[in-house]
Amino acid sequence: MRGPIWGAMASQEIETLTQALSRLPGLGPRSARRAVLWLIKRRETSLVGLLEALAAVRDGLVECTTCGNVDTSDPCGICADPRRDQRGLCVVEDVSDLWALDRARLFTGRYHVLGGRLSALEGVRPEDLAIGSLIDRVERGGIDEVVLAMNATLEGQTTAHYIAERLETYPVRITQLAHGLPVGGELDYLDEGTLAQALRARRPIG
Ligand SMILES: [Zn+2]
Repeated sequence: MRGPIWGAMASQEIETLTQALSRLPGLGPRSARRAVLWLIKRRETSLVGLLEALAAVRDGLVECTTCGNVDTSDPCGICADPRRDQRGLCVVEDVSDLWALDRARLFTGRYHVLGGRLSALEGVRPEDLAIGSLIDRVERGGIDEVVLAMNATLEGQTTAHYIAERLETYPVRITQLAHGLPVGGELDYLDEGTLAQALRARRPIG
């Protein structure tokens, strides 16, 4: 447990809020302090909007039981969209990757979110990821191509190869993103051009 961010000068309420904000990705104690001061000064205006947005996220969002996307409906907007190509399925590690790919607007099929990647170091095993439900989806048929869009990390690639093996016996084409992706690159951080190029140049996994 780390020490207080403010010291003795701030109330427990302010300290608790600052601690909570400092745990957000990209925010440390220093930026959390700045954010809290900013919010305190605007508690009649911006803070109200923020509270409403947080409540809407807490109360309104659900995980799609088909693909693992987070949306206001289950099935999610992508799964429920009849214009989407039923035959293409793109497998990603996290929801952030799904959103990054969908922002690039190149993949017309649907997605499957694994919820992480295999990691011996962190003890993440196949049964900890949504691999069983992926195989169920493929088994139900109607899918021609599975695109494995894992990050260009060792663990991402290990995960891709594991899934490719598990899908070997099914009549689907299995491809993966072309890795002109920077080594160690995470999809969410790539610009849309690079991402589009990687998706366009996807190739059979080998
Ligand atoms: Zn969905």
